Amino acid sequence: MSMNVDYYEILSVSRTASGAEIKKAYRRLAMQFHPDRNPGDKEAEGKFKECTEAYEVLSDDQKRQIYDAYGHEGLKSHGFRHTSAEDVFSSFGDMFGELFGLGGRRGRQQGPAPGNDLRLDLHISFLDAVHGLVREEEIQRRDTCLTCEGSGCRPGYSKKTCPACQGRGQVIRAQGFFQVSTPCPQCHGEGRIITDPCQDCGGAGLIKKTIKLPIHIPAGVDNGARMRVPGKGEGSRQGGPPGDLYVIFHVEEHQFFKRDGDTIYASVPVSMIKAALGCVLEVPTVHGAIKLTLPEGSQSGQLFRLRGHGVPRPNGRGTGDMVVELRVQTPVGLSEEQKKLLHDFDASCQRQDEAKEEEGFFSRIFNEVLGRNKGGKESGGKNTKAKSKSESGK
Ligand SMILES: [Zn+2]
Ligand SMILES: [Zn+2]
Repeated sequence: MSMNVDYYEILSVSRTASGAEIKKAYRRLAMQFHPDRNPGDKEAEGKFKECTEAYEVLSDDQKRQIYDAYGHEGLKSHGFRHTSAEDVFSSFGDMFGELFGLGGRRGRQQGPAPGNDLRLDLHISFLDAVHGLVREEEIQRRDTCLTCEGSGCRPGYSKKTCPACQGRGQVIRAQGFFQVSTPCPQCHGEGRIITDPCQDCGGAGLIKKTIKLPIHIPAGVDNGARMRVPGKGEGSRQGGPPGDLYVIFHVEEHQFFKRDGDTIYASVPVSMIKAALGCVLEVPTVHGAIKLTLPEGSQSGQLFRLRGHGVPRPNGRGTGDMVVELRVQTPVGLSEEQKKLLHDFDASCQRQDEAKEEEGFFSRIFNEVLGRNKGGKESGGKNTKAKSKSESGK
């Protein structure tokens, strides 16, 4: 675009302008054409890139000398490529902060590109997730090569302009009637290639390493939760900060405890007799055993909420509850004597008004469902339950 437009003209400065004058001129233009101030305005964006490119060259003594002596071609032959749209923001991020007093463009576009983020899938036990712990994990990642500081070039050498695209990073290919611009296959769009690769990383700029990293698993972490560990991702190739590590938690199931958010659920067995008479029941919680007092006549399926015996909430906002479901167990393998005792017991119950009332209630239900299906024919799931009840009642 600005390939053949004079950089001094773009900035409207004389060829003898001082660094301060050039900066002042650029500041004025950048303020005027900055995309943040002209959203969606392609012309302003073009002007902005143009003046940024001019400033990039004229504010750099070495580049300015080359440009003064040999012009645009001179820069190209010295391996300086034109700033791409993305680089405009990354390489000048700091200066925009200075220009606008806003801290520049935020995030990824400020400063050199950081390394890639990494993902670590961590499988942890149910109880470890509740209590949290520090666990040392071995991770494989690529760190910035110290020999070449990520550039991939043998020390003392630098990247050269890509011969395939002449530093443009794009090549034009004919597709039928159309000409399509695609990223250059030789330099992958970078515009520069490594001619003398670093011996240590083979030009990758990164070196594979296996490191041991202590992972702080917070108490109460839930299945599927994601935790960001800043700066523990892959190293940068461009002198930027390393990427981040994202830990994804996979919490194993527990054979006794179930969990929903910060509530723990468990089903606790109790004998029929103890449920009937009431008792003190020892109940395991995720924090240890506690004693739960069952009142007389506790029923199977009855729920007891144990406040504060659940999962710790993040940031110290207390602890969830545990909900205990009572599972009354019918005795099996009774001796003849025990059976007789239960028969006697049953007979004594029959005499109680309360029990009769219960019987009356169920008889009504049986009459209702049996009357609807004459002959007691089964026709669906609804009757199955009633039938099994009637069988057990005999
Ligand atoms: Zn290297
Ligand atoms: Zn290329």
